[in-house]
Amino acid sequence: MTSKQSITVVVPCYNEADVLPLLYERLRNLSLEPEYRIDFVLVDDGSTDDTWSQISAICREREGWKGIRLSRNFGHQRALWSGFQQATGDAVFVLDADLQDPPEKLRDFVEQWKNGHQVVYGVRTKRKESVWKKIAYKSFYRILARVADIEIPLDSGDFCLMDRQVVDAMLQSNETTPFIRGIRAWVGFRQVALEYERNPRAAGREKYSLSMLVELAINGVFGFSRKPLRMITWSGLLVFGLGGMIALGFLLSIVLNASVPGDLGWMAAGMAGLSLSTGLILTSIGIVGEYVGRVFEAASARPVSFVSEISERPSDSPSRQENQFNVDFFRKRAA
Ligand code: UDP
Ligand code: MG
Repeated sequence: MTSKQSITVVVPCYNEADVLPLLYERLRNLSLEPEYRIDFVLVDDGSTDDTWSQISAICREREGWKGIRLSRNFGHQRALWSGFQQATGDAVFVLDADLQDPPEKLRDFVEQWKNGHQVVYGVRTKRKESVWKKIAYKSFYRILARVADIEIPLDSGDFCLMDRQVVDAMLQSNETTPFIRGIRAWVGFRQVALEYERNPRAAGREKYSLSMLVELAINGVFGFSRKPLRMITWSGLLVFGLGGMIALGFLLSIVLNASVPGDLGWMAAGMAGLSLSTGLILTSIGIVGEYVGRVFEAASARPVSFVSEISERPSDSPSRQENQFNVDFFRKRAA
């Protein structure tokens, strides 16, 4: 007999009182094949409206609904992370409260999970949002794809379904400013994209301001890339090389012309000196940056690797016993 597989739906909510009744309605009516059980974790990220009273009313009444109230507003990504820490399902389904990501898509996500994919992430084919937001997101994902040390899929947000193994792997790291779509890509495992159309907000106002978006982008770039640090080193080496070339030209002109340099010559010498010292300083900063990068990585305590599967002979297999027999046999003979 196989027991039911459980899926925890995690929803971060910040001042979402306007949309909560709609959200509740849609979540309550979610249905899957009978072999699955759905439960919910609603995270109140320090709301100041009556989001919490609504959440706690729902969760007190219904089995399988858990409400968590954070002590203050920690931001979307941290609220989600707190939700992951509370989720107990065999898979975790991540959803925004504003119904921009259709909850009913869960069926398609579960289908892919059943097919053996451990991360099913939503990719937006269309966004029904303001022009500036579309441009901001589009350019952000493209910049990130260029600078990040890992491959973060284009136009994929946090809307996803993750297997328990993946959630556990993510939670092993010690991120203080998690960038979930980055860590999700970083941990690996079998991942697949699922296309969907992003709807406009069902009710209420959006909570992500431009400054929060910029902060998210900064977290994404600096959390998953050492390229900005490398750029300092490279520019330092470039300037240093330039200075070296000017200095060489200056010395050669003295030797070849066998004369004291004129004003232009001394200017070149000055430039060479300046470039050499600037180059040296930049390179040194870059080197210090390399160490800072390493300290950052050590501080975020991301494990070295994750094992997704192990294949070996079961420990009680006959051949192992045979081996033990042989060991005993030879030991006795040697004695
Ligand atoms: N959110 C949150 N904490 C915040 C900001 C937002 O938990 O500090 C939640 C919000 O309630 C919503 C989700 O994060 O469920 C996405 O927020 P929003 O819809 O404003 O962002 P956008 O759709 O513009 O990315
Ligand atoms: Mg939204």
